[in-house]
Amino acid sequence: DIRPLVAGNWKMNGLRSDLDQIKAIADSIDAELAEKIDILLCPPMTLLYVATALAEDTALLVGAQDCHTSQSGAHTGDVSAQMIADCLGEFAIVGHSERRTDHGEDDATVKAKAQAAISADLTAIVCIGETEEERKSGRTLEVLGRQLEGSVPGGATAETVVIAYEPVWAIGTGLTPTPADIEEAHAFMRRTLADRYGAEGEKMRLLYGGSVKPGNASELMAIANVDGALVGGASLKAVDFLAICEAY
Ligand code: 13P
Repeated sequence: DIRPLVAGNWKMNGLRSDLDQIKAIADSIDAELAEKIDILLCPPMTLLYVATALAEDTALLVGAQDCHTSQSGAHTGDVSAQMIADCLGEFAIVGHSERRTDHGEDDATVKAKAQAAISADLTAIVCIGETEEERKSGRTLEVLGRQLEGSVPGGATAETVVIAYEPVWAIGTGLTPTPADIEEAHAFMRRTLADRYGAEGEKMRLLYGGSVKPGNASELMAIANVDGALVGGASLKAVDFLAICEAY
């Protein structure tokens, strides 16, 4: 049995005045929920250390939205996986489509970041997903295959890597693929990872992300090989994020 993971990605949102939402999430995870699923929040770097303090002695896990490929050095403005671990973060999202687009990150960079995260004892959440144009031209699975091959490090295990399937056109748009399309994509990812990593690939958590809301969470999470969700906008409000977690 794969333990589900519901992860919130705050992106470039969250001021000190929003710490009450993090506290509300942390304090609302009761024993029953914590027994069923892992719940992770990835606030901006500026709130990371305070967030881990708020999450202490609760079931809430905390992580970052990115990390550098190196652990230290002359890289002005960047943050390393070692620094995230030092702030008691336990996860790093890598290869989010917004980083691939905004910062020109390619698969090789994403793989190096995932490797850096793993080296610092973090779990890497590696994001992949097709653009609208790629889907329309029937290349979705080909793109996912190439991104899995290029972005996920050799030696990845179910402990060290989580995969998030986020169709670029479904992010922040209110659009989602049909359940059948999500099922097809996740079955393909499972086969690919099982071929490459054997038993570890069978156990690796595969999250769906892109317009996950309280209203569609149960349907999305019931799909075969969907082991949780990566939630953007709906993770900013504690009530919405908790409603998605409760959908399990
Ligand atoms: P939304 O949930 O806002 O569509 O964002 C998804 C996402 O990009 C999470 O990483």
